[in-house]
Amino acid sequence: MSEEKKGLTRKEFLKAAAVGTAVVAGAGVLSAASNLEAARKKGTRLAMVIDLDRCIGCKACAIACKTEFDTRLGVFKSQVVYNEHGAYPKAERDILPWLCNHCDNPPCVKVCPVEPISAEFKGVKFKKRATYKRPDGAVLVDQDRCIGCGLCIQNCPYSVRFFDPGKKAGGNPSANPADKCTFCEHRIEAGVVPSCVNTCQARARIFGDLNDPKSEVSKLLKAHKEAAVLLPAKKTMPKVYYIGKKAKAVNAAFLKGEDIRKEANSEYQLREWKKGPYAPKKGGK
Ligand code: SF4
Ligand code: SF4
Repeated sequence: MSEEKKGLTRKEFLKAAAVGTAVVAGAGVLSAASNLEAARKKGTRLAMVIDLDRCIGCKACAIACKTEFDTRLGVFKSQVVYNEHGAYPKAERDILPWLCNHCDNPPCVKVCPVEPISAEFKGVKFKKRATYKRPDGAVLVDQDRCIGCGLCIQNCPYSVRFFDPGKKAGGNPSANPADKCTFCEHRIEAGVVPSCVNTCQARARIFGDLNDPKSEVSKLLKAHKEAAVLLPAKKTMPKVYYIGKKAKAVNAAFLKGEDIRKEANSEYQLREWKKGPYAPKKGGK
């Protein structure tokens, strides 16, 4: 069995045992895993809390995500964007980690035209289109059934979905399937937290179960009355919450940061990389 398939991997365990700061992160992994295990038995409602007072905008989470999924150049399931405003000496930078909100009322799921089929998750029966909300709250894409029509991409108000350029849609092999953050469903299944959460050395990302009052996410949301979500007027009921002094400004950062978000998209990234030292050689790959 490879290291990655053992749940809390040997590499993660050794890292946690060897370094002081990593011990803290490792403890988070273990307690979050046992929380998740206990919560699963009584029904889980997955959520992420992002503490903007702790986030330093290092983008390690975005890179960990790219590594976890081996996403193509310019493709991001999780990003961190900046909104810079004001002028010296009062210039400020707002930092916004940005990913799928795993909404409780997800417009992306409602518009999927693929015929629903019956499915079961940990004993709970539910209906599943090509994109669907699992009973534990994760919003996922079944790329084997996706027809690549792009309706979910167009209808996500947070612009977090994209076509996966490296795959063929199972329901229409001439198209690419939709893709996005999965809350690292494969890692949760193995009892470890999502890769972005595991990597964040600032402990700015916290993941867990809202149905468990003892989970860190439940306690944080109880303690932080300023907690905010993106675009609340859309009534999508996001399950990614922002806390901290800048939580109230998070929507301004999201909206004003739009140009920056566009810059962060694949075409920009590819253009810049193609100009750099990794530019493809003539006649080569
Ligand atoms: Fe769907 Fe977008 Fe909400 Fe994610 S953020 S669940 S893709 S509407
Ligand atoms: Fe459904 Fe795929 Fe179309 Fe999205 S792109 S709406 S998942 S069929």
